[in-house]
Amino acid sequence: MTSATRRDELARNLTAVRERVARACDAVGSDPGEVHLIVVTKHFPASDVLTLHELGVRDIGENRDQEAAGKVGEVRAALREHSSGVADALTVHFIGQLQSNKAGRVAGYADAVHSLDRAKVIDALARGAESADRVLDGLVQVSLDGDTSRGGARREEVSELADRIAAHHRLRLRGVMAVAPVGADPALCFADLRDIADGIRASHPEAGWISAGMSADLEPAVAAGATHLRVGTAILGSRAPLL
Ligand SMILES: *Cc1c(COP(=O)(O)O)cnc(C)c1O
Repeated sequence: MTSATRRDELARNLTAVRERVARACDAVGSDPGEVHLIVVTKHFPASDVLTLHELGVRDIGENRDQEAAGKVGEVRAALREHSSGVADALTVHFIGQLQSNKAGRVAGYADAVHSLDRAKVIDALARGAESADRVLDGLVQVSLDGDTSRGGARREEVSELADRIAAHHRLRLRGVMAVAPVGADPALCFADLRDIADGIRASHPEAGWISAGMSADLEPAVAAGATHLRVGTAILGSRAPLL
């Protein structure tokens, strides 16, 4: 159950973020229809996801399998029970660091995985997709400062990883993803990501997604040509530990 207050808060925040995106697109003359908002619901309950769905959200992001598997199952069951049809679809984007031993399970419920940064994880995800009889969208996560401890591949590995995703018939190479490193200028980081994305697109024209931009830096991401924004805090509030 979601209280009327929580619903109002989510509705208000969502409107404010959509307005920010529209203004950011306006400022650089990009088409708002080309910029997709993924609402990052990690740390927040299934009830919030269902409220967001009622408010028109169709793309959510999750970063931990342990939390996401059950939550996504619960949300999809509720959606099936209360409604039906294509209009009710929910696309789940997995955006967190992924271990190859978790990739099989993630392949069962995620529709897109933005955090592919190692051959082993890509191969495990493809095997999982095969067993689940699904086809998943995949993005190469790039570490823009070369510090791979928080996920992401070094830039010199990106093209090989992209080829590897594209070679699996259960995976569809969609593009690249990055998080701006702490303390770095997001405008420069996202311009850099844009160059990397252009390089990948030269050999994989279908890989047009650029997943970049979070609550604090969605404007520079839009300016650099991001196609997918991943916004949590600005919509759901700050992430207090789950009770
Ligand atoms: C949590 C998270 C986000 C959302 O960040 P906010 O600052 O809450 O908008 C985006 N991308 C990734 C990879 C995340 O883990």
